[in-house]
Amino acid sequence: MPVKQLRLLKVFYLFLMLSLSHLLIAGETHPHDIEAAKQFINEALKVNKSYISKNGQAFFKKLSKGQQPRATIVGCADSRAQTNKLSDSPEGDIFMIRNIGNQVRSTMGSVQYGINHLASPVLLIIGHSNCGAISAASSDYSSLEKDIQKELRTINISKGIKNINGVIKNVNNQVEIASTEFNNKLSNDEILIVGAVYDFANDMKQGPGKLNIININGKTNPVEIKQILSNL
Ligand SMILES: [Zn+2]
Repeated sequence: MPVKQLRLLKVFYLFLMLSLSHLLIAGETHPHDIEAAKQFINEALKVNKSYISKNGQAFFKKLSKGQQPRATIVGCADSRAQTNKLSDSPEGDIFMIRNIGNQVRSTMGSVQYGINHLASPVLLIIGHSNCGAISAASSDYSSLEKDIQKELRTINISKGIKNINGVIKNVNNQVEIASTEFNNKLSNDEILIVGAVYDFANDMKQGPGKLNIININGKTNPVEIKQILSNL
């Protein structure tokens, strides 16, 4: 094979490997489908229309008066982890913050707003099984976009850790970060900081779809957690 062709082949091979490793890390393997985009917007408008007729004017009048959310939630943005489904009526009750890997540090302003200004008595941090952000954070993510890297750096887990173990470790780390931030409110028993894993893949063997509470105010012993939950 001529040298030029060999070189081209090498470049192509390198490009292929780089693309593949990028895809594997990001978990993004689908091309964009603009038809699906149009369909989604149409559906969203229809859903909104039926939401309006289902709830009626009094519902929106009440919302326009203000909010007193009992829970501030930091969840992963993953489309499979719709953790606002924790309430049948989240309007006015759940102050929802979502990002890749349910990180607290990169979204601290929003968390402070929920806890300090809206006076949520619960801060709930929710990870989930098969989390792409956790996969990325436990691998080499240096080829990803700089802004993604910045967020992943707040996830402090070891490289190569099993996904569910990384998810659990990350939730516990995030609870610790939040506990330091809201230390005064915790010591005065004004708030609960709870860590949980929404396990749709049943990696924790508690049944698929279960929200497993793994941390309450820094306590991670399952027996202790069970006891606290039974006394709530
Ligand atoms: Zn995730």
